Amino acid sequence: MNNFEELNLNPDIISAITELGFVKPTPIQELVIPVLLESERDLVGLAQTGTGKTAAFGLPMIQKVDTSINQTQGLILSPTRELCMQIAKDLQSYSKNNHKIRVTAVYGGTSIETQISELRKGSHIVVGTPGRTLDLIKRNRLNVSKINTVVLDEADEMLSMGFKEDLDAILEGTPDTKQTLLFSATMPAEISRISKKFMNNPVELSAGTKNVAAENVKHIYYEVQARDRYEALKRIADINPKIYGIIFCRTRHETKEIADKLITDGYNADALHGDLSQAQRDSVMTKFRSRHLQLLVATDVAARGLDVDDLTHVINFNLPDENEIYIHRSGRTGRAGKSGISLSILHMREKHKLRSVEKITGRSFEKMLVPSGKEICAKQLYNLVDRVENVEIDESQIAPFIEAIYQKLEWLSREELIKKFVSVEFNRFLSYYKGAKDLNKIDKSRDDSRGSREDTGRRRKDVDGRRGDDEGRRRNRDDANFTRLFINVGSSTNLNPASLIGLINKNTKEKSIDIGKIEIMKNFSFFEVDKAFEKTILKSFEDTDFNNIPLVIEVANPKQSGNEGSPSSRNFKRRDSFKGKENFKGKENYSRLKNKDGRKRRENKK
Ligand code: ADP
Ligand code: MG
Repeated sequence: MNNFEELNLNPDIISAITELGFVKPTPIQELVIPVLLESERDLVGLAQTGTGKTAAFGLPMIQKVDTSINQTQGLILSPTRELCMQIAKDLQSYSKNNHKIRVTAVYGGTSIETQISELRKGSHIVVGTPGRTLDLIKRNRLNVSKINTVVLDEADEMLSMGFKEDLDAILEGTPDTKQTLLFSATMPAEISRISKKFMNNPVELSAGTKNVAAENVKHIYYEVQARDRYEALKRIADINPKIYGIIFCRTRHETKEIADKLITDGYNADALHGDLSQAQRDSVMTKFRSRHLQLLVATDVAARGLDVDDLTHVINFNLPDENEIYIHRSGRTGRAGKSGISLSILHMREKHKLRSVEKITGRSFEKMLVPSGKEICAKQLYNLVDRVENVEIDESQIAPFIEAIYQKLEWLSREELIKKFVSVEFNRFLSYYKGAKDLNKIDKSRDDSRGSREDTGRRRKDVDGRRGDDEGRRRNRDDANFTRLFINVGSSTNLNPASLIGLINKNTKEKSIDIGKIEIMKNFSFFEVDKAFEKTILKSFEDTDFNNIPLVIEVANPKQSGNEGSPSSRNFKRRDSFKGKENFKGKENYSRLKNKDGRKRRENKK
């Protein structure tokens, strides 16, 4: 099938949709339109989000309206106010060349009186939310007794929003002879049941595989510690300076919180959730649609009605509880044949959920690393340079000032001038990401390093920079046999207990050294080893490095090992925050630290 003419649509409809840029029917339209034009049979239409289901039922409905009868002939029910408005708007534009057809949207959250007077003028097609539609029927303002066609759009969503009883009540008043159509992106068991209840031997047409996420969407996930989720989100936004996307959160509370944080951190973001007034929601949506907002933080229900075609990203701040919801979310991008990216930020314990989402979507997810500060800075820098290169200069506006500016900046060389201009914009990123930690560093102590020497539960606490309860440990060893060593690398350079043990094994080539407590701090660490191997270890670490940082290792000042039972965590905290300001790399900084700190360490190096 190549074009709409072959589907036997009227010329006035074809000219209207051609103006909208529709060149050929989408697969679901190709399947559904001929059936609806030719038969009165009930129909279930299944196709991914963004594949043109509105026109699939809307075009035949418009064509079948008899404008000589001033009665409501088509009723479309959809779950949200936004969807109603969208569908009504779509139908109005499909029928713009047939001025006699009237389409009215009715939904809650706004004056019912206005809608009543709209209906009074006569409306061939009514698009409504179940609640408001039922309300209007009960008030005898909407007459459904002459309805030929009922459409349940996004039926799965209407059911999950608890509209089942409203649907029952609405359909009760419609003629038995009507045609019932049900459209959905997914076909959960509930939908099959309802289709049996509301429909009469329906033909089921589905385009693409059921329950499958859109094909032109790339599915990506990042794995971070739960507490790093927000930081990861920021980095994702920063590495995509042109991002235009929706961030899905699970609750209203989370939605608000994330949006507030993003706004405070200077992002072009806002929240969309059910606690907003209708006017506030409209305003947020308008800003987002017109791209005055780059990031919309939303709950699933609130974002449901948003029809935006050009989203670059859908971000799952966490995976939804139901897999079907993931399909809806990711279907917000990659619409109308464009490509899109659906990102999920996961923590380790969510990984099993990922498997089941992969299964139901039939897509495999690609793991990506959260970008490092350096990568982000590079990306932002080139973006800035690009903008400088392409910015349009309004000569007449700047002319009055330019002479004075030349004079003021005269003394700078071209090179200096460029550096300064770039720095004006860019220093913010440089300073924010200076010494930024690697968010991909996951504490694996709870799974893959099981069986290594350290008590797994406690190691986690150590990684967090706190000292854990080491009762268990102490029962098992005699402190006198251990020596406590300092090393100049920590979590900021990706050191974790597993890699530290690996480092010891690699450098000493000795696997039987007993290792005691490990404390990974941000920029340095302490670990205990069997005293008998102290010299071996110190020697073996000479002239070695870790992630390109020359290692400095020495016996820790005994005072720093803290009193038994009352860890010297205060000391650690102070040192850590003191050093957090600089990037602690190598010997030079280390000696500076020692001096500043006024504390002497025993020198062990020869
Ligand atoms: P769905 O209801 O399946 O999620 P929509 O009906 O909202 O999808 O359509 C998604 C987008 O695709 C809309 O912007 C719509 O205008 C556009 N669209 C629909 N049919 C076509 C077509 N045949 N050619 C081009 N664009 C289309
Ligand atoms: Mg739709």
